[in-house]
Formats: sequence, C-alpha cells, structure tokens
Amino acid sequence: MSTELNPFKIAQEQLDETAELLGLDEATHELLRWPRRELQVTIPVRMDDGTVKVFHGYRVQYNDARGPTKGGLRWHPEETIDTVRALAAWMTWKTAVVDIPLGGGKGGVTCDPKAMSLAEQERLARGYIRAIHRIIDDKTDVPAPDVYTNPQIMAWMMDEFSIIQGHNVPGIITGKPIPLGGSEGRGDATARGGVYTVREAARILGIDLKGATAAIQGYGNAGQFAHKLGEEILGLKVVAVSDSKGGVYRPEGISFEEGVAWKKKNGTVVDMPNTTNLTNEALLELDVVVLFPAALENVITDANAGNIKAKISAELANGPTTPEADKILHKNGVYVIPDFLCNAGGVTVSYFEQVQNAYGYYWPLELVHKRLDAKMTAAFHAVHKMAQEKGVHNRLAAYLVAVQRVAEACKLRGWV
Ligand code: NAD
Repeated sequence: MSTELNPFKIAQEQLDETAELLGLDEATHELLRWPRRELQVTIPVRMDDGTVKVFHGYRVQYNDARGPTKGGLRWHPEETIDTVRALAAWMTWKTAVVDIPLGGGKGGVTCDPKAMSLAEQERLARGYIRAIHRIIDDKTDVPAPDVYTNPQIMAWMMDEFSIIQGHNVPGIITGKPIPLGGSEGRGDATARGGVYTVREAARILGIDLKGATAAIQGYGNAGQFAHKLGEEILGLKVVAVSDSKGGVYRPEGISFEEGVAWKKKNGTVVDMPNTTNLTNEALLELDVVVLFPAALENVITDANAGNIKAKISAELANGPTTPEADKILHKNGVYVIPDFLCNAGGVTVSYFEQVQNAYGYYWPLELVHKRLDAKMTAAFHAVHKMAQEKGVHNRLAAYLVAVQRVAEACKLRGWV
C-alpha cells in the first residue's frame, strides 16, 4: 500500500486540517491523531481439511471520551492494522457527527471469507472473540458487522462471548439477528440513513429526484439497500450497479428485484441480461445525478475525480475519496455527502439496538425509522450549516462538527 493511499495517513491528514481550522491545542490534536488502544491477535483455526490456518485479527479502540467505543468488524483479504485504525478514527467522528453517546472503534481479520465454509467462518468468529474478549464488553466496546461479516457471524460472536461470561450478553455486539436481540430496521439502516441525507441534499440543491439517475458501486448490504430504498423513498432510476467482479449499465434503469435476483443466482451483477458490462472505474464516471460509492476506500482519487459527473456523491462506503480528490470534487461542484455522515445510519440503529438490549424492551420498525430520520436529518443540516458558515467543503465541515464535539468531551474529562 503506498503511503499516499494509506487510509490511516489520510485519516490523520483530514484531522490535521480540521485541528488547524479549529485552532486545537497541541495535546488535544496529538491525542486525537492516534488510537487510545489497539490489540493485534493471531487466531489459529482448524480448517475443514484438518489443517490449521493462522489468521491475523485486530481491534482498535480509537477514542471513548463520548462513550463506549463502537465499530464494525471487517473480514477482508486486504485488511491491515492501518485500515482498521483509519476506520476506527472515522467511527469516532461518525458517532460524534450524529451525536450519539458513543466513541469510535473498529476491528477486522485478514481473511477471504468467500473461500471459507460456514463451519470455518464460525470457528474464526468464535476464535476472534476468544482472542479479544478481555478488552470488549457491552459497556466498553461493542463490535458490529461491516464488509463481509453479517448477522449470523454476529450471532456466533455474541454466543461465544456469552459462554465466556457465563450469562447472556446480547449487548456485546450489534447487527444481531432479531430473535437474538437485534433491532428492527438494522439490516437496511446504513443505506436508509444515506438515502435520507440524499433527500435533504436534493432539497437544498433544488434537484427533483423522481426518475433521476443513479449508479451504485458495490452491491453488498449498503449497495443493495441503496438500490431498494433509492427507488422506494426517492424514486431514483438506478442505471448501473457493480461488485468486485465488475459492473453493468442500462440507461433505461435496472430494478432492485432484477439486480438482487441476478446477483443471488450468479454471485455477481456482471452479465445481467440486456445490460452492458462496464468496469468499476467507468461506473464512477457515468453522467448520473446520484453516485453511491458503496464498496471500498480510495476509489475516487486525483486521477479520476475530474471525470466524476454526478451532482451528488453519497458515500456509503468508508473512505472512498482521497483528500486531493475531495478538493477537485468541491471545485467542480459535486455535492459530496461525506462517508461518516452519509453512512452513519448503521451505527445509529446499532446504538438503538444497544439501548433496546440494555432495557430488554424492543421498538417497532416505524419508531426506528422515525428516530433514524430525525438523527440523520439533524446531522445533515448541522454539517451543511457549518459548510456554509465556514465556506469549506462538506467533509471538512463534518470534521469540524465532529472533532469539536470529541475535543470538548476530552477537555471536560480533564484528559487535555
Ligand atoms: P458487503 O460485504 O455487504 O458488500 C461489499 C460489496 O462491495 C460487495 O458487493 C463486493 O462485491 C463489493 N466489492 C468488493 N471489492 C470491490 C471492488 N474492488 N470494486 C467494487 N466493488 C467491490 O459490505 P457492506 O456492508 O455493504 O459495506 C460496503 C461499504 O460500506 C464499506 O466501505 C463499509 O465500511 C461501508 N459501511 C457499511 C455499513 C453497514 O452497516 N453495512 C455501515 C457503514 C459503512
């Protein structure tokens, strides 16, 4: 990984710029540049063929000044400690920007779950919890799903943690299946929150989204639900979708049912009937109204930012845009809804899940949607207002709102 595309370096650069604008004192700035705690572990897992494979895992607790750390677990072949650090930093800003009483953390395992059986995945999930259980619990650090992890994996992890504790601890992890204490509305929360922010952005920009075109990079949890809810709530016409194998394009629109059915049957969106295949790079540059980067980081760089034609880039993925690219997009008038605002719906409903677990009393779906909408709408307008007031691009504005809140909590605690 080149230094310039090291996500943690990027996260630090973004903070540095914010600290300067806020006039943060040196100690607070230094404190916020680094994780407060991190753990790297090895996890030996017996594979189905009888051999033992050793996996490398991570858990980073970035900052807990505003509350227990919170953040997802990624299972990805390219997972590194620096990716996890960056994501943990972004979680800190994310929980602050939506103003929920949590800090930021993240975890992951370097692995290729697609090449593992379900039994191997279960052994890895349980092994990971045995390796990190000493530094997590429902009042200190609560993991959740992220890339290539899902409710079933959360269920195994919750079970393993409960076995170690000797009693049921549903609040140790969020994104659980509903019968185990998951929240209604958690499944589509990330995309739903993002869609609410697109609605607000369009209002401000005076764009009518009914029938407006959209392209979605990444067709997993975030991307697929962006397709469904983009159609349902905003009336968008999705003309292109992609996954790790490539993308497809049809100017007349691809329906959610069609996209999901093809992906389910074939394991990829590629070669969908009556579409043209296109690369992930080409998808980003399509002339659409809304672009949803919903896959991985660093896909919009100074090399292609000048070619982005979308009016709104709604960043469901974490870290899809490099700092140089951000400046280019801003200059070209692309309205970026920055990742840690746009995709904060997931952690917001995860927080709702923690609250419900703590009380052992569960909310109906409509209430989850209503409360999520209120949180996302308020967060969007706080960021938009800051951007207007300071004359800065939206990501910087989101940083200003979030870092100010975390810095204030650190000061009130007497840390700095
Ligand atoms: P997922 O595992 O469900 O899906 C990931 C998708 O990205 C898959 O369709 C995969 O094929 C695709 N992909 C992988 N590599 C790619 C590449 N090189 N080019 C194009 N597509 C590629 O993951 P997800 O939960 O949907 O997460 C996607 C993004 O959203 C990540 O950046 C994640 O951090 C972020 N996010 C997710 C949540 C959540 O609640 N699921 C919350 C916040 C942020």
